[in-house]
Amino acid sequence: MDELAGLLAGDVRVHVHRRADVDRVWRDSHGGQPLPVSPWAFRAWARGPVVRVFVDETETPASTAWLLLHELAHVALGGAPYLAAAYRRRPKPPGYLAHDDVHEAWPEEQLANHVATELLPVLGHPSGDYSRRWWRRRVQGRRGGQVSTGQFSACSP
Ligand SMILES: [Zn+2]
Repeated sequence: MDELAGLLAGDVRVHVHRRADVDRVWRDSHGGQPLPVSPWAFRAWARGPVVRVFVDETETPASTAWLLLHELAHVALGGAPYLAAAYRRRPKPPGYLAHDDVHEAWPEEQLANHVATELLPVLGHPSGDYSRRWWRRRVQGRRGGQVSTGQFSACSP
């Protein structure tokens, strides 16, 4: 963790929540607005220097570490105005939050996925890709029909 902290330019607050609490945490973080998508449409978010990661049985210790690294990449990019101007120039497309393919096609997500995969050994795990495609198979395998009616299903492979 010290090595990771040394790579960051400033302080970051990290919260790890149970996925069962995602609606409450969303409301608390978004001015009381209800969660606009399925609880299984995303896994984490970063707003400014605050990272929130949601875990349940669909995650592993390695995937949770990967999620943290992915979100820290978003935070780091936010602190690099020159790079952020390029990566965030293109607006997030409709369906960015709820549709895996749309989400993963956004350049900043590709950057964050790459950073997380490459830095995973810093947190003691072998390098690996735990992006949405990996996670979606876990969700569908473990939760089955319960999430097949979620908003993301129409675009998921
Ligand atoms: Zn991301």
